[in-house]
Amino acid sequence: MPRYEYRCRSCETTFEVSRPMAESAAPAPCPEGHADTVKLLSAVAVGGTAAAPAPSGGGGGGCCGGGCCG
Ligand SMILES: [Zn+2]
Repeated sequence: MPRYEYRCRSCETTFEVSRPMAESAAPAPCPEGHADTVKLLSAVAVGGTAAAPAPSGGGGGGCCGGGCCG
């Protein structure tokens, strides 16, 4: 279920609501109970993340091959 971000214009808090797309336009009261909220345009994360950790390979050196380990 996608999440939508709203902002309350009464207390200026920002909150998220998980709801079906069909109800994305429906008003969402803020956690404080105010009804004067606006829907923010935020990227809905559907799918995987784009950021992948860069592979950091260790190795090399050849210390034990040079006789410094023993
Ligand atoms: Zn509020």
